[in-house]
Amino acid sequence: MKINSNYLKLKDSYLFSLIAKKVDEFRNQHPQKDIIRLGIGDVTLPLVPAVVDAMHRAVSEMGNAETFKGYGEEQGYAFLRQAVCNYYAKKGIMIDIDEVFISDGAKSDLGNILDIFDTDNKVIIPDPVYPVYVDTNIMAGREIIFINGNVHNNFLPLPDESLDGDIVYICSPNNPTGAVYTREQLKIWVDWALERQAVILFDSAYEAFIQDNNLPTSIYQIPGAKSCAIEFCSLSKTAGFTGTRCGYTVVPFELERSNASLNKLWLRRQTTKFNGVPYIVQRGAEAVFTETGLKQIKDNIDYYIDNAGIIADTLTELGIWFTGGRNSPYIWLKCPNNMSSWEFFDFLLYNCKIVGTPGIGFGNKGEGFFRLTAFGKRQNVTEAMVRIRQTKF
Ligand code: PLP
Repeated sequence: MKINSNYLKLKDSYLFSLIAKKVDEFRNQHPQKDIIRLGIGDVTLPLVPAVVDAMHRAVSEMGNAETFKGYGEEQGYAFLRQAVCNYYAKKGIMIDIDEVFISDGAKSDLGNILDIFDTDNKVIIPDPVYPVYVDTNIMAGREIIFINGNVHNNFLPLPDESLDGDIVYICSPNNPTGAVYTREQLKIWVDWALERQAVILFDSAYEAFIQDNNLPTSIYQIPGAKSCAIEFCSLSKTAGFTGTRCGYTVVPFELERSNASLNKLWLRRQTTKFNGVPYIVQRGAEAVFTETGLKQIKDNIDYYIDNAGIIADTLTELGIWFTGGRNSPYIWLKCPNNMSSWEFFDFLLYNCKIVGTPGIGFGNKGEGFFRLTAFGKRQNVTEAMVRIRQTKF
């Protein structure tokens, strides 16, 4: 018996346990001080009424012999897949109901999609980025090429002629940097992928936070993308589904590699290894896409975006370099005075009683940077900015 030894190559993830340890130490030394957490990547506002009502109705259906549901289609009920198609249609993107796959969230699909690709493929991953891309590829034993985000490219790396790879991850708006690719920049990626027959795995988990109408909220707004990209989306941050669990992935019919339809391969994979998302959750997700649901989730997103704006305004005033914050719940700042990510973590904790996330936790190129999130309560965000303004960096 041999284990998958690639798992032994994974680095332990100390990030959040080390943050918790440092916060506990501080609290033991200063029990009377109130700490503000601007590091959380989880939402704080509850599910909106349209979703709650729909789920209540679905619970009643499940308790009635006439309307009870057992197994559903693995790729999701048609009512929800149609709602997703309608949502895309509003963006001017026409997709077929059978190009949409409902899942229990983007994290699962982003990891599981690798099942349909050979391990020999070279994968390109931006640094810094959401750590799931790196770890799932290490587990599969795939060769990883990192492309660097930095101040010069605003943490939006682009391919050059020499860049060679088969699969590339693009996350826009990005976690942790909050940076968003423009249409022109995404076109460069699409053209690059079409030329090499590579596949783009486009993570649009934060698309609903984009405020600027000129910025693309889907890779399919770029001509040619349906022949080279799979798009992953989630209701987690969009509609507060982090604990409820629902997302969707679009695999276009046009996307073929090695004479095989990736849509068919993914359908085969899902129907074999996945048994679908609960009916009650799918009814809740369907309600997100109704007129009332969209209005209600927009109010919540606006609340977080206003929080992000308060943080961004303060950093602008203080002359601290940052990305994100306008079209994303994340603000990625350069640590003042060339502090390292962890030095700034300690500085902020001890001087301002604020907890954030050290950038180094998202990749080597995150060293010297820091992530703040806008998912907190307004009062806390405002108070945190007062404290930062009063601090001498
Ligand atoms: N993609 C990115 C960039 C994320 O930041 C997250 C969650 O933080 C996910 C995907 C996962 O989302 P889900 O809750 O749908 O699994």
